[in-house]
Amino acid sequence: MGLADVHAHLTHPRFAGDLVGVIARARDAGVTSIVVNGLNAADNAAVRDLARREPAIRPAFGLYPVDAVLPEMRALGIEYPREGPEPPVAESVAWLRAHVDEAFAVGEIGLDGYWVPVELWPRQEEIFRELVALAMAADKPIVIHTRKREQRALEILTEMGARRVCWHCFGGKVRLAQRIAAHGHWLSIPANAQRSESFTRMLQTIPPERLLLETDCPYLSPDRVRPSEPADVAATAAYAARLWEVTPAVAEERFAASFAALFGVLP
Ligand SMILES: [Zn+2]
Repeated sequence: MGLADVHAHLTHPRFAGDLVGVIARARDAGVTSIVVNGLNAADNAAVRDLARREPAIRPAFGLYPVDAVLPEMRALGIEYPREGPEPPVAESVAWLRAHVDEAFAVGEIGLDGYWVPVELWPRQEEIFRELVALAMAADKPIVIHTRKREQRALEILTEMGARRVCWHCFGGKVRLAQRIAAHGHWLSIPANAQRSESFTRMLQTIPPERLLLETDCPYLSPDRVRPSEPADVAATAAYAARLWEVTPAVAEERFAASFAALFGVLP
């Protein structure tokens, strides 16, 4: 048993030169599971290949909610900064359908109203529903990305009866996060929690059995200078231990139990 980072992007070009180091530092920090989330067909394939080489890596296959409507956004002339190729959406959905059985989880998927204009929300929801149904039919946990559309995502997940759901880097109101936890879903707290009032409040007020740790690496770094990496969850676990007034070992056990309840295996 150890710590888990439930949301990492180790296929990101930032890690290309030092993946061995990143994984070694995670191991040294006590991290035994890293759930690497895919964003589209090409990225999902890269995640799968990485997981085949590295036993600590658990592959999540997804379709980033902005990527899901990128052709429509381009057609409307909307600027969206994106690195790398733009795989066709149908190809990404088909890839997921073909490989869902190999997935540790389905994600990241969700709704994004920050980049995506309101006229494309119905199309984004349609794809989201299709992927949630796919995950549920395969009995896979779901990792949710949502920005500005947290309420709507909860409505859809509730209506569809999705239970094994982890909300990654929740940016909505803390009250809504509390409702999501009370509803029986999980929320993962990123490594920048110590300088975030809302993530600190979530650690203080949401039952530990509904909380997990993540980095979203290379994003959301705790020190803003270097990219974040899975080893950073150790400092968040220590921070949670201080807030909960328990030993780091107890905090680690709580997060491990929470991981096991969602994913069905210990980290
Ligand atoms: Zn992500």
